[in-house]
Amino acid sequence: MTRVARLAIIGAGPSGLAVLRAFETARRKGATIPDIVCFEKQETWGGLWNYTWRTGLDEFGEPVHGSMYRYLWSNGPKECLEFADYSFEEHFGRPIPSYPPRAVLHDYIAGRVEKSGVKPYVRFRTPVRHVAYDAARQRFALTVADLLRDETRCEEFDAVVVANGHFSVPNVPSFPGIESFPGRVLHSHDFRSADEFAGKTVLIVGSSYSAEDIGVQCFKYGASGIVFSYRTRPMGFDWPEGFEERPLVTEIAGNQVTFKDSSRREVDAIVLCTGYRHSYPFLPDQLRLKTDNRLYPLGLYKGVIWQDNPKIAYVGMQDQYYTFNMFDAQAWFVRDVLLGRIALPPHADRQADIAAWRAREEAVGDPLQAIDFQTDYVRDLLQATDYPALDVDRVAELFKEWEHHKEAGILTYRDRSYRSTLTGTMAPRHHTDWMDAMDDSLEAFMAVREAAE
Ligand SMILES: Cc1cc2nc3c(=O)[nH]c(=O)nc-3n(C[C@H](O)[C@H](O)[C@H](O)COP(=O)(O)OP(=O)(O)OC[C@H]3O[C@@H](n4cnc5c(N)ncnc54)[C@H](O)[C@@H]3O)c2cc1C
Repeated sequence: MTRVARLAIIGAGPSGLAVLRAFETARRKGATIPDIVCFEKQETWGGLWNYTWRTGLDEFGEPVHGSMYRYLWSNGPKECLEFADYSFEEHFGRPIPSYPPRAVLHDYIAGRVEKSGVKPYVRFRTPVRHVAYDAARQRFALTVADLLRDETRCEEFDAVVVANGHFSVPNVPSFPGIESFPGRVLHSHDFRSADEFAGKTVLIVGSSYSAEDIGVQCFKYGASGIVFSYRTRPMGFDWPEGFEERPLVTEIAGNQVTFKDSSRREVDAIVLCTGYRHSYPFLPDQLRLKTDNRLYPLGLYKGVIWQDNPKIAYVGMQDQYYTFNMFDAQAWFVRDVLLGRIALPPHADRQADIAAWRAREEAVGDPLQAIDFQTDYVRDLLQATDYPALDVDRVAELFKEWEHHKEAGILTYRDRSYRSTLTGTMAPRHHTDWMDAMDDSLEAFMAVREAAE
């Protein structure tokens, strides 16, 4: 691979920030790294972990990226996503409970990159509009918008990392009669606060993490009933009173919803937790990943390097059990490919590698197997780089414990504690049971603890 003198990163969410951290770590160890520009359309970094009250379009008329909501707490143990080069204990100066709220996780993500001093690499309020590749010159031309100056510019780069996330552009089905439903109808991308559903019966369409969590949130904040509707199979938790699972909606007439088993139910609001679409509107067809939400999207060697042009890489495009530390493993791998430290095998061998991983993914039958699959994927990446040691076997065990804890109590699993695979410290129990913890601020999470100590 010819030397990469200029590198563009699209997005400063956890994935883009992992790439920045990877290069900065190499630079501090003496490597010569490319000139890097990270384009970020929001006013700050952290991606989805920035909470915004806005929905639809933002103050510049740009589509709002945020899909997170108030009262969002980590839906998995923090010990499963801990950065191997920056523990929670290092960031917060003491052990904290296993299921932090959004603001605490944002603080952790941002804290690592603040300390790396990589902010000058990032251009905020600068969405990428278009990427063109000139094969003869082997250069990428990025057209970007400077929202604050209301200007459009074009800049050239030798390589591009796409890290714009894939949980932001909603997949929105329709149902007969929904247009006349008298209550509120929204997609989970626009869900911001469970309070508005207090006293209401809420129909949640979907059976993914969003459906589960938004249903539980609405219940926690006072909804009188939660009716989940699934397309293929119910979530199957031992739901407490107040929750029910029904098959797919077939028709809506007024407030009355009919399901595939002919049962009926009156509801007051509908939240479509029907997933997200991969969307890269700034990329031409020959560079654009086209996939649904998969553990192993096709077209990406080692899940990151674009097969038909290895100067373009994607980070964070997998369906996710692992998150922050997987993005790190990917970022370190991409960095070493772009620095010429990892030599890529020939096209046919890469294709065979992709096909083998995809065949394994096809054989995955349940969440526990999916965890094993992603563990092996992360392990494969880790052995290729100098990313600090991460005991993925232990992380996989924690993920499986977490699955069992959810089965044991969908409203109580967030009260559990796990041991850090990095520091060996057992997380303390939070001062308040999750169902009673109504304030999701960092101050409430940390300060009340201090008072209790
Ligand atoms: C509701 C919800 C809850 C979740 N909860 C958890 C959880 O509890 N634990 C967990 O580990 N994970 C959770 N996730 C998963 C989440 O995907 C990851 O944690 C993480 O945010 C993914 O990081 P990313 O950088 O790949 O994408 P994102 O966080 O989406 O960041 C992408 C960035 O790219 C920017 N961008 C987009 N388009 C452009 C453009 N054209 N030009 C410039 N910049 C652009 C965006 O503004 C954004 O900052 C959740 C996801 C959702 C939707």
